[in-house]
Amino acid sequence: MDILIRGGLALLHTEKGWCTREADIRIRGNRIEKIGKGLDGEGCRVLDAEGKLVMPGLINAHTHAYMTIHRNYADDLAFFDWLDHVDRVEQGMTEEDVYWTTKLAIIEMLRSGTTCFVDMAIKSAREKSGPRAAVAGAVLDSGFRAVICRGLAGEANSEESLRKFGEAVYEMDLFAGEERLSFVHGPHAPYSCRADYLQKLTGSCRERGIGQHIHLSESQAEMEGIARDHGGMTPIAYVDSLGVFDVPCIAAHCVYATKEDIALMARKGVSVAICPKSNMKLGNGFSPAKEMLEAGINVCLGTDGCGSNNSLNMFAEMNAAALVYKGANHAAQCVGAEDVLTMATVNGAKAIGHAGELGEIREGALADLALVNLCEPQFIPAHNIVSGLVYSSTGAEVDTVLVNGEILMEGRKLTTIDEDEVYGEIRKIAGRVC
Ligand SMILES: [Zn+2]
Repeated sequence: MDILIRGGLALLHTEKGWCTREADIRIRGNRIEKIGKGLDGEGCRVLDAEGKLVMPGLINAHTHAYMTIHRNYADDLAFFDWLDHVDRVEQGMTEEDVYWTTKLAIIEMLRSGTTCFVDMAIKSAREKSGPRAAVAGAVLDSGFRAVICRGLAGEANSEESLRKFGEAVYEMDLFAGEERLSFVHGPHAPYSCRADYLQKLTGSCRERGIGQHIHLSESQAEMEGIARDHGGMTPIAYVDSLGVFDVPCIAAHCVYATKEDIALMARKGVSVAICPKSNMKLGNGFSPAKEMLEAGINVCLGTDGCGSNNSLNMFAEMNAAALVYKGANHAAQCVGAEDVLTMATVNGAKAIGHAGELGEIREGALADLALVNLCEPQFIPAHNIVSGLVYSSTGAEVDTVLVNGEILMEGRKLTTIDEDEVYGEIRKIAGRVC
């Protein structure tokens, strides 16, 4: 049914930045048809948005949804120790487990205003729906939106790597044409993929007309390892030498990106998903977001997985991003609230090939929206809504969420997911694999 969001304050993105306007929003099918005052709601389901902000749904540009199983599990450990713990749990996980842990992730994202995520998973779906359908099935069954890749590691011609590559490609074909799902390749990182595998995946991206998603320059150990094994190169220069940036690419982290790396990524049109909370928690530092923005890089924002965050709340991530660079640069004016909100919306949309269609409210765009209750102390007085969202909000003010024109949460009640069922399944999985 078509929807009219009546009486809200719409958060709009213009060339000059963010602004608000009192306006109704009419949604026909999965798109925003009209924005204006006093719109006719005949034949529409009317959502009363009085006292609410209508904002674009947030886009989490780097996560691992299955890692909700690792939440509060292996904390306060050094990076490679932490990876060992994570690996051990993952060994025991099945496609069904990934389905349920992803559903848990989607519950958390919906409750904090996220409507789309870029996921790097450990399993691919083998069926189209139901519990064996891993991330893709959980996304489709929930009415959510995602860009999915299977995290791939190893070398081009080993049996194991070929099997995983085959599974990733099978999943892409299985879900081809699903409007809320898209796929990219997911080479895990330059230290876990051999050069021939990175080249094979890039070649497959080219053939399929898709992009890829990779962790880059995340830790000091990675920097040292790649420099040692590849003639002093940085991870970013190294993967570029193999052609990785010749297809659309979202690079996660880039904590240790050098000046030359930043210029290179700007030239190649690489999108960078910064994950400030994960980087701080794993003791890796923070990415040079200020310098990347100045160089014109499309910087977007991700939470990373729950194992290293321990939350998927993009409001918390925006808050961290707006604070860390001020502290790091001793400059209160650096990476402002507007920059951070743009990273979490407009830039995320651009990174996933949906510029102008997602991450902003405009006529013709896809209807992925969050209604935020402004009658909360965090927003009073209402001097600056964007500051309120970035510096004061917790995400719990999100009242209603629409994805692709469908209401997935209304009055904080989920419409497509049985939360108790998911929590029950997660407890069973945790008892078995952790
Ligand atoms: Zn990650």
